[in-house]
Parts: sequence; C-alpha cells; structure tokens
Amino acid sequence: MTGVAQQIADNLRAVRQRIAEAAARSGRSVEQVRLVAVTKTVGLEEIRALVGAGCQELGESRPQQLWEKAAALEDLRIHWHMVGPLQRNKVRRTLEVAEMIQSADSLRLIRAIDRIAGELGRLLPILIEVNVSREPAKHGFHPDLLEPSLLEVASCRHVEVRGLMCMASLEGGLDAARRDFAALRNLRDRLRNRCPEGIALEELSMGMSGDYEVAIEEGATIVRIGSALFEGISR
Ligand SMILES: *Cc1c(COP(=O)(O)O)cnc(C)c1O
Repeated sequence: MTGVAQQIADNLRAVRQRIAEAAARSGRSVEQVRLVAVTKTVGLEEIRALVGAGCQELGESRPQQLWEKAAALEDLRIHWHMVGPLQRNKVRRTLEVAEMIQSADSLRLIRAIDRIAGELGRLLPILIEVNVSREPAKHGFHPDLLEPSLLEVASCRHVEVRGLMCMASLEGGLDAARRDFAALRNLRDRLRNRCPEGIALEELSMGMSGDYEVAIEEGATIVRIGSALFEGISR
C-alpha cells in the first residue's frame, strides 16, 4: 500500500470511529448514519485508495468533475451522489452516472430531473436542499416555502423524494451549525405528517468535516465528509 493509501485508510477508520461515537452518544445506532465521501478536492489515485479502503458512496459538487471521475473509475463499484449546484442543462449527463441528487434546490430543477429521469426510464432518489440558515448566497428552498411546493414535487413521478439536505451557516461555529441542523430536523418532523403521498422524508443529509458529530447528534442520517478523509496526504 502506498503512503497515500495508508493515510486515507487510517483517516477513514478514524472518521468511522467518530461517527460511531457520536451515534452512541445520541442513543442512535451506527447503521442509521451513512457516510458519503466528498471527493471534490482529490484525484483518481486518492479516490481509488478510498474505495479500496471500503468506502463506496462518493459525492461530487461539480457536475463536470462528477462526469469525468465517474468515467475514469468505471471499473469500480461506486455509488455517486451529486451534492452541489446543478444547472438544468447538466441534468442529463449527471443522471447517467449519479444514483442520487442530494442538492435538488428548486422546483424548476426538480421538474427537469423528473422529465429526464422519465426519458431514461429511471426513478431517481433525490433530497430537497433547504436553506435553513436563510443566507442569501445559499442555495435551497426557503424553509417556509417548502411545504407549498410539496404537492407539485409529489406529482413528479420519476423522482423519489427521500429527505432533506442542508449546509450549515458559514459563520457562528458549532453553535450555529447545531441550530441549523436542529432546524432541518424540526422542519422534517413537521412536514412528515403532512406530506403528500409519494414523498418520504426519512433522510437528513447534514454535517461535513467540521461539524458532522454535531449533525449526528441532531439526527443526521447522511454525513458528507471531504477534507477529514484526506488530511495529511501531500498533494
Ligand atoms: C465540499 C462539500 C462537503 C464536504 O466538505 P468538507 O468540509 O471537506 O468535509 C459536503 N457537502 C458539500 C455540498 C460540499 O460541497
């Protein structure tokens, strides 16, 4: 094993350990938390090392990079997640490789995903991105405007809504992050009882390298982790 591969395997083990501890602290089972490794800052060698170490759920935040990496790694069994902004003209190529779109941030995008998933004969799992911190620069549905949109989302027969996704505030540290994560969970709990048929809100994708333990304590079912997995490798 190369130095890089060893380091990545060690990092993965450490992150999994911390995930397990955070789950235990909050009385949750570790099986309720999935790790999606965000590989946007690394190349193919690092990704191969990560997959070799046993992490097969990967995420990319830029469509072009997702397409290129997916094509170059076709020999591996990778479950790709799209986690970043997706323009409608990039939906088709993205759906050819992604198993889930975590960043469905507008009705227009969801309609486009629905139409193209239909053409490809797929039922596409998505998460709805919510701008819980209400920062103007952030993507996602305004928390108060999600409920009125759900009926139309439910009429999209080729997308399967699995839950909600958010990014924590950039400012305010872990306290602000915890508040944002709790807000997403509360929104999910509130909407879950009034959801139109065909929409499930089981998943909460929240938490990144700096705040994933807090996110797990607040109910995350998916954490999206990048830099913590690639610490200490020279690039
Ligand atoms: C980059 C990124 C992550 C991972 O961030 P790290 O801080 O490197 O763990 C998670 N989610 C999204 C949407 C990202 O763009």
